[in-house]
Amino acid sequence: KKIIIAIDGYSACGKSSTAKAVASILGYSYIDTGAMYRAVTLYFLQNFVSLTNPNEIENALKEIEIEFRHNPKTQKSDTYLNGINVEQEIRQMTVSDKVSEVSAISQVRRFLVAQQQKMGKKKGIVMDGRDIGTVVFPEAELKIFMTAEMTVRAKRRQDELLEKGELVDLEEIIENLKKRDLIDTSRQDSPLRQAEDAQLIDTTAITFEEQVKQIVAMSKQ
Ligand code: C5P
Repeated sequence: KKIIIAIDGYSACGKSSTAKAVASILGYSYIDTGAMYRAVTLYFLQNFVSLTNPNEIENALKEIEIEFRHNPKTQKSDTYLNGINVEQEIRQMTVSDKVSEVSAISQVRRFLVAQQQKMGKKKGIVMDGRDIGTVVFPEAELKIFMTAEMTVRAKRRQDELLEKGELVDLEEIIENLKKRDLIDTSRQDSPLRQAEDAQLIDTTAITFEEQVKQIVAMSKQ
């Protein structure tokens, strides 16, 4: 029986790479909700949308269409904003710096949560984010909450950025992660927290393969 797997946790704990691998092993589709918040943030930055003006935000959201399309070259799914591939741009530090602020706006969350719930109508999905097990799919059959030590998270994020040709100081990354943790956990309407029925996985000391194996095994219980 196909299920919904919700993977939540802090930034740079390896959620998305783990979720992707689990989805591919199980033949499920993978949905990266962080990419959706990043795409909205990119649109807001490009169009100078004021984060304190609800009307401006409402009008901007009406202009935003987010899609995931499979890229046959990389065998990965790319994020599209209004028909344009923004996969690279949404991972840059300019977006990372603003994304938690944008994600704290309840209009933005309502807009994206509705789309995510629609995507989950079809079972057999792995969705990663911050509020998947608590808000988007409280009824998900399997919930995972991932954590890792800060230094490990920062190093991973640095390697990821380096792969894309962006060299960022470790201190700057730690600062960005701490700032995002704080905003993510103190959000008014849906703070990042572990769902009561979620399984905790600390990825500080286990290998990527182990992480994936554990979740695949849990999905079959
Ligand atoms: O997962 P990723 O680090 O790309 O997410 C970027 C940001 O988007 C997070 O720091 C968080 O502020 C926000 N986010 C969220 N809810 C989600 C997914 C991401 O608020 N479900």
